[in-house]
Amino acid sequence: MITPSPFWSPVVHGLVPYVPGEQPRLANLVKLNTNENPYPPSPRVVAAIQAAAQQGLQLYPDPESTLLRQAVARHHGLDASQVFVGNGSDEVLAHAFYAFFQQRGAPLLLPDVTYSFYQVYCGLYGIPMQVLPLDAGLRIDVAGFAQPAGQEVAGVVVANPNAPTGIGLPLAQIEQLLQLHPQRVVLVDEAYVDFGGESAVALVPRYPNLLVVHTLSKSRAVAGLRVGVAFGQQPLIEALTRVKNSFNSYPLDRLAQAGAMAAYEDVAYFEEKRAAVMHSREGLTLQLEDLGFEVLPSQANFVFARHPGFDAADLAARLRERGVLVRYFRQARIAQYLRITVGTPQQCDVLLTTLADLLR
Ligand SMILES: *Cc1c(COP(=O)(O)O)cnc(C)c1O
Repeated sequence: MITPSPFWSPVVHGLVPYVPGEQPRLANLVKLNTNENPYPPSPRVVAAIQAAAQQGLQLYPDPESTLLRQAVARHHGLDASQVFVGNGSDEVLAHAFYAFFQQRGAPLLLPDVTYSFYQVYCGLYGIPMQVLPLDAGLRIDVAGFAQPAGQEVAGVVVANPNAPTGIGLPLAQIEQLLQLHPQRVVLVDEAYVDFGGESAVALVPRYPNLLVVHTLSKSRAVAGLRVGVAFGQQPLIEALTRVKNSFNSYPLDRLAQAGAMAAYEDVAYFEEKRAAVMHSREGLTLQLEDLGFEVLPSQANFVFARHPGFDAADLAARLRERGVLVRYFRQARIAQYLRITVGTPQQCDVLLTTLADLLR
């Protein structure tokens, strides 16, 4: 740890950064800790990146990622003016928090157990929070997002399916959130929606306060390219574009734009791999249950599981000693859960045989 320095601004002293899961330098680890796709991207993605590398790297990329935004819009039946892209969905989320949730000291509503970056952005931008507890089944309690009349809110953020529980909300409950707060943006982070959730993208034309965020890091298998997307009506996209152009005109490089387009174009590959992950998830869930784990119902590419007889931190450490990385969170209510990314069938087998050995 580097000690604080007098050169730092007061803001830096107060920052509480996000801590990502380990990206090990060791090869041969079974890496089930950061929810990447266990499969490589489509060969067409690699070919598109190679072609882009052959031409024009000395020139800046298209600052508006026009072709990519058109491809994404076509894929979802929207107009390119309803699509924003950024350098990973984390950057898209950061711009959205800046653009919509700084509302004269009113609090942002969010669940207590969710993607922990939301609280980090609130810290970065000085946005107060009203943290609402999940119910006893670790589900988002939508009715709890209602506010007493006259009480201002800055907006709402939820992940659907939620992270790290993997539990999805039905679309009707997303609509309930949109109707509870028609004057504020409701941000729905659908990082995992392609693994069995219900997407709100089709609601964009009906709700001017809806912003849906997607990532290409999970279901489209290009975490290494850093591409995220937001869907919303044009005024919301314009706000994000203003923030982007006040921060970095060229967040997506030429290789990322080309590779991301190809990832949307190879629909057959995308369908095949997400089906494989969902199939492995069902097998993994049953076999973890056979080992005595309680597994939450997941609509994501990970499972959230606890064993009544074993401490999660201890299990994670002993798995790591044997070359298997999983994640756990030092947070009340979920401290005894392991979050395990769904791997290839082979990776799932290594995890399960290692666990069986450790539990014996
Ligand atoms: C992985 C993840 C992200 C970040 O995705 P990137 O596009 O890789 O930045 C955002 N939200 C949730 C809920 C995630 O799990």
